[in-house]
Amino acid sequence: MSHLHPALPYAYNALEPHIDAQTMEFHHQKHHGSAVDTLNKSIAGTDAEHKTVEAILAIASTYPAAIRNSAGSHYNHSSFWQVLTPTPTQPAGALAAAIEDSFGSLDGLKEKMNAAGIARFGSGWVWLIVKDGKLEITSSANQDNPLMDTAEVRGTPILGIDIWEHAYYLKYQNRRPEYLTNIWNVINWDEVGRRYEAAM
Ligand code: MN
Repeated sequence: MSHLHPALPYAYNALEPHIDAQTMEFHHQKHHGSAVDTLNKSIAGTDAEHKTVEAILAIASTYPAAIRNSAGSHYNHSSFWQVLTPTPTQPAGALAAAIEDSFGSLDGLKEKMNAAGIARFGSGWVWLIVKDGKLEITSSANQDNPLMDTAEVRGTPILGIDIWEHAYYLKYQNRRPEYLTNIWNVINWDEVGRRYEAAM
């Protein structure tokens, strides 16, 4: 099966001023695009050719780095575009209740997730996951994610934030904390809520 590079569900400049158009264009076209190319090339002729991305991630430890990294990148980026939006919403319903229960408030969640994102050295992702029916925050290196059998903390990701420098460097340079503060202005909590309910 050939994996497809999905179009962004909004324009490259739609998330300005929080995420600039040039970053979005390079990030989506070049970084995500090349991951899809590498994934399709590296699975050709292997048993991974007939698996979904999720099925590859579940046994990531059995694959060479090119498959693990490109499958992770394709999943992570496809998921990332969907949780960003030019028309941000607020957590509602069961997700809002779970956030209050686990973190005291939405601000409590943001604070913990930003701290985890700042603490992750080098490139990676910070995640809000569902694990054993509870919300939890974790982070991963490189293009790894909580669906991988190699993950430090495994669970179902419902919100992942890219903390590679390519996600913010053109606008924020080395200021990862400022990027993390501002990205909360463009989060699609409706989508996160749908994922939460699907994971429960
Ligand atoms: Mn990225």
